[in-house]
Amino acid sequence: MGKARNNIAATVRRVLRKRPRLVWYAVACGFALAVVLAVVRGCGGGAPKLTAIPPPTEEEKGDVLVTGYCSCGECCGWRRSWLGLGPAVYTYGPMKGRRKKVGVTARGTVAKHGTVAADPKVFPFGTRLKIPGYGMGVVEDVGGAINGRHIDVWFASHEEARLWGRRNLKVVPLP
Ligand SMILES: [Zn+2]
Repeated sequence: MGKARNNIAATVRRVLRKRPRLVWYAVACGFALAVVLAVVRGCGGGAPKLTAIPPPTEEEKGDVLVTGYCSCGECCGWRRSWLGLGPAVYTYGPMKGRRKKVGVTARGTVAKHGTVAADPKVFPFGTRLKIPGYGMGVVEDVGGAINGRHIDVWFASHEEARLWGRRNLKVVPLP
């Protein structure tokens, strides 16, 4: 073992003596890989400004469970294939292993503030909802765990979705 390692070390030293530029190639490749990883995984770019949404008043409380979600893999059940470098694929459910368009709703629209995931049997696609503390929403998405009188409202970051928590609210569908 030790001998083999010495041989490898000696070979590396010999190569480096002959071709010192290889060191710079290695450094450049490492840097390029780091940049690619940062871009692919989304490097955060500083914490978003979080606006604390106050808890509901007595009048705002109701019988619809409202949870928060974002477009991340944890919230939307996807992960990147090929050791985290490849395209996004579903992690569970009937679409498991199939390609997933990140940030795109079941209706094919781009998820943004106001996007709501619901059970289409309770709130059909396109239904406009007034959600206390959140604002206006439109049903454009579905979720594996979103059934009955439970809706999921979209936030730009996982932290905001987490801060929203679980609220039982009076959700009013608008004509
Ligand atoms: Zn999330």
